[in-house]
Amino acid sequence: MSITPPRDPSRLGTRTRLVHAGRDPSAQHGFVNTPIYRGSTVLFESYDALQHRRAEYTYGTAGTPTTRALEAAWTELSGAAGTVLTPSGLAAVTVGLLSCLKAGDHLLVTDSAYRPTRVFCDGVLARFGVETTYYDPTVGAGIAGLMRDTTAAVLTEAPGSQSFEMQDIPAIAEAAHARGACVLMDNTWATPLLFPPHERGVDIAIEAGTKYLSGGSDLLLGLTSANARHWPALQRTFAMFAMCAGAEDVFLALRGLRTLPLRLREHERQALALAAWLKARPEVARVLHPALPEDPGHAIWARDFKGSSGLFSVILKPCSEAALAAMLDGLELFGMGFSWGGFESLVIPFDCRPYRSATAWEPGGPGLRFHVGLEDLDDLTGDLAAGFARLRAAA
Ligand SMILES: *Cc1c(COP(=O)(O)O)cnc(C)c1O
Repeated sequence: MSITPPRDPSRLGTRTRLVHAGRDPSAQHGFVNTPIYRGSTVLFESYDALQHRRAEYTYGTAGTPTTRALEAAWTELSGAAGTVLTPSGLAAVTVGLLSCLKAGDHLLVTDSAYRPTRVFCDGVLARFGVETTYYDPTVGAGIAGLMRDTTAAVLTEAPGSQSFEMQDIPAIAEAAHARGACVLMDNTWATPLLFPPHERGVDIAIEAGTKYLSGGSDLLLGLTSANARHWPALQRTFAMFAMCAGAEDVFLALRGLRTLPLRLREHERQALALAAWLKARPEVARVLHPALPEDPGHAIWARDFKGSSGLFSVILKPCSEAALAAMLDGLELFGMGFSWGGFESLVIPFDCRPYRSATAWEPGGPGLRFHVGLEDLDDLTGDLAAGFARLRAAA
């Protein structure tokens, strides 16, 4: 019986490691969890310690035992050299980009990126002299043809936000590294459990902890992890912004971490079942889900990913906006709202046409993105079947 952490976690399975990572009951009077440390001022023991910052903790923005616990756990899970925690997933994207770009640089961003990421590139980065080019998410090794002498970074995201294209991350990473560029990936959909980013060639991996790490739609958090080559720059940039996460959000994320594998597996199972049900509906033209064998990205997904999560899209057969509204407005169990990853099912309509610039988005009908929660599946299909009946009646 021991109240200290396991001596060599590397010999243990992922679930065991997630139970033990980032906590040490022997340092907390035997209590199982690292508590919430709140604070700005940290007192130094002496003049000498203050002058040389000789202390594990120096100031609230520079980290607390609570934030260090999650950083350490995420670094271990991701196979990274280090992790920083930010107050949102979008902040995790921006601090990652800012750590590897400077004025005069060129940046390549997938056309399927999370839309607020584009807004940041076209707004802030453009203002500071970084030029962004958007590329076809399915470009693969062809990214080499888009690289310039000034290309400093390539941002990837797989599968694509809303549109679910797969990206050949190892091929993109190889071509980018050959030209000395940094490879970033928004890995929010898979988490490091289903896609180990650094093993696949990613230098800087981004996760919106707001989604699955929370699992409860009750916090905002970002995690940016880097390999050994890019960690010093990420850590320096993060410190200069002092863009630190809230103590309570970090504590809740540590709690979410313990059950992440179980919840993800259930979201995957439920989503695959709902995707199969939707595929058989006459109102549905196509299901966009890389784990389905007929999906254009399936081969890459099967090669590089260890599973799928609870988020996917469908394209409906053409219908009027009024019919779509009639379907969505009457739903009792599916909520309509942004974000995802919680225990509750969500649906939102989407249209990539207004902002795509490198590829055409012409799916031939309205798009719906589903996040499948933990409800009973029959209740979810019943809610949608009633919705489809309203859609048909309004058509
Ligand atoms: C939600 C999301 C983000 C941003 O996370 P926030 O915490 O909401 O800022 C970034 N990338 C992807 C893919 C997301 O789904």
